[in-house]
Amino acid sequence: MVPISQAWTVASYVAVQKFIKGRKRYPLVLMLEPLFRCNLACAGCGKIQYPDHVLSKRLTPQQCFDAVEECGAPMVSIPGGEPLIHPEIKEIVDGLVARKKYIYLCTNALLLKRKLDLFTPSKYLTFSIHLDGLKENHDTAVCRDGTYDTAVEAIKEAVKRGFRVCTNTTLFNHANPAEVREFFDVAMDMGVEGMMLSPGYIYEKAPDQQGFLHRDTSKQLFKQILDQPKKSWKFNLSPLFLKFLQGDFDFECTPWGSPAYNIFGWQKPCYLLQDGYVKTFKEYMEDTDWDSYGNKSDNPKCQDCMVHCGFEPSAVDATFGSWSGFLATAKATLTA
Ligand code: SF4
Ligand code: SF4
Repeated sequence: MVPISQAWTVASYVAVQKFIKGRKRYPLVLMLEPLFRCNLACAGCGKIQYPDHVLSKRLTPQQCFDAVEECGAPMVSIPGGEPLIHPEIKEIVDGLVARKKYIYLCTNALLLKRKLDLFTPSKYLTFSIHLDGLKENHDTAVCRDGTYDTAVEAIKEAVKRGFRVCTNTTLFNHANPAEVREFFDVAMDMGVEGMMLSPGYIYEKAPDQQGFLHRDTSKQLFKQILDQPKKSWKFNLSPLFLKFLQGDFDFECTPWGSPAYNIFGWQKPCYLLQDGYVKTFKEYMEDTDWDSYGNKSDNPKCQDCMVHCGFEPSAVDATFGSWSGFLATAKATLTA
């Protein structure tokens, strides 16, 4: 579970955006991609298929800070590529902590244990560890043996040193619900604060096109996985998003809720799709044709998407943006 201070920051931010500033669209989590290069090549990844000269580029700390200031979101997720490869990742994290942003540093953890000394435990910093299941499933998903053991070792060390740690699991159509539930037990036993879950986005560039879940199969799978959840399981996701994954609650995506910034600029419309780039956040918000996206649009690239970067902001907006959403969240929490 996220700390009260973070929940309060997010709730008050949403209230100010909606009820005081009257903004119809506002960012919640900046997806700050400082580089695309990675030390793995997972079968379901759509982020690393760039030519070498692009993979060699990265954002400077100042570019990261400028994007964060421009966007104004209270939370910053740092995916990649692998952010721990970035030679100035310490400066980037320190600068964001100084700005009181809640950071989720997403990592496959291969380098984490070695690089932990760079960082200081803080309520603002969470390591979000890519772990797609138990040993065999995870190593298969990331296409390298031994990765699970390395990640687990790093998680235990980070927890021992007082860092906030959560797991980040992407599920594909070969997932076995019983094994995923067993994985939840193992992850919680490692002392993580919570778990994040999402179906994989159907990246056209990903090498394994057969493994992706579609909307109906996603809902069936998550229903089986999350049925009668154990009290010991903690998720770093809003209860309404978990209901959405199971098909029990429906909302449209809010791509502007998790805007993405990388070496090309602000990516339209979301972290998953690349329909062009603009130089400023203002242009991104004002010039994107939002009606062309989402499940209710006729955009084929959106039809099967249930990914958390598109729908978790919708869940948060629903939770804190109205009494009915708040009550639905309370009910989802109590019946979980
Ligand atoms: S660890 Fe993440 S960024 Fe790296 S290849 Fe795998 S999915 Fe892509
Ligand atoms: S449905 Fe998914 S892919 Fe389409 S805009 Fe929303 S988040 Fe992006």
